Amino acid sequence: MLSRNEITEKAHELDFEDIGFTTAEPFESQREILQKRQTEYAWTNAVGLDLMAGTDPKNVLPEARTIIVLMESYFRKSYPRNLEPFFGRCYLDDDRVTKDGLAVRIKAFRSFLSQNGVNSKVPFHIPHRLAAARAGLGTFGKNCLLYSNTVARQSSWVLPVALVVDAEFEPDQPTLEVGCPDWCKNACIVSCPTGALRGPRHIDPKLCISYLTYYGSGLTPRDFREAMGLYVYGCDRCQNVCPRNAAWLAADLPENERVTKKGLDFQLEKLLHMDRPYFETRIWPHMFYMSADDIWRWKMNVARSMGNTRDTKYVPELARAFQESADERVRAMCVWALGRIAGAAARGILESIRPLGDGIIAEEVEYALNLCG
Ligand code: SF4
Ligand code: SF4
Repeated sequence: MLSRNEITEKAHELDFEDIGFTTAEPFESQREILQKRQTEYAWTNAVGLDLMAGTDPKNVLPEARTIIVLMESYFRKSYPRNLEPFFGRCYLDDDRVTKDGLAVRIKAFRSFLSQNGVNSKVPFHIPHRLAAARAGLGTFGKNCLLYSNTVARQSSWVLPVALVVDAEFEPDQPTLEVGCPDWCKNACIVSCPTGALRGPRHIDPKLCISYLTYYGSGLTPRDFREAMGLYVYGCDRCQNVCPRNAAWLAADLPENERVTKKGLDFQLEKLLHMDRPYFETRIWPHMFYMSADDIWRWKMNVARSMGNTRDTKYVPELARAFQESADERVRAMCVWALGRIAGAAARGILESIRPLGDGIIAEEVEYALNLCG
């Protein structure tokens, strides 16, 4: 029978930065939250995430005895400046589809367990952060994220990977508390641009920019367009403003060359004009929450982001996308973005399309012309 020490050694050999053990008891606190906040989480079932089932590890593996949590940092290397403002960092080096990085190491870890008679499952829908805190790996922030006790200078740039296993190991001491200093004065809650953080450890996921960028329905409401800023996919704002992350943000990290190479494909201009084959081969394997049928949402997000850069270099791109796109939501956002950028060139284009538009496009043109001043 494997010992905790042997498992821990293997985890470190495979370059995981920390490891903890907890029991396979149900996550009662999570169950209570999901029951209380059914409206806020109703969307999860629609995308195939049965969070309620995930509150009991025995639904994943009936013989479950322990949860082993591996701690990974997704921010060991620096991300390029041309990507970081537009994409949540945790998505920039995500290999859940390509399976060529972290997935290889998880597979090797599971093979090691299996070769030693321990069966394991790595479910998506159990509360990984809660499992990590129960395994003594980190404390919570009021922004609902997990802050490691040891990794990346105790920051939140971590990804806990929970494995449900059928063997019993002594659990670690839980660290389930909120670890925020009093003097912080809730910087994350105050700075959340869409009001998704309703209070300490209370998020309305449907108001979070991450959700809005990949699952938001229809044309993004005007009230959110400026607030969502440059983000095209994901959001890191409540982590960027957090003093618990300051030490790691100041670290001099080597460049993530793998992501830098990908950066060319993710240029805003290319995303705005991409066709289905481009999306399916270059984009979807790295950021896959939206299917090819949702390319319109990608383009709408990119148009909004371009507008919020207020950079006149995007004016011709937005004009072209308006002309070429058949999707009203994309066209409407191009119009809004032109108004947000403003200036003579943008105003000229808006004036030229003014007589052509009707319905929502006509409304957006008038609104955009007002923005131009
Ligand atoms: S990720 Fe962005 S939108 Fe979501 S809670 Fe944090 S600051 Fe708010
Ligand atoms: S910003 Fe402040 S309150 Fe929010 S998670 Fe960080 S330390 Fe905690």
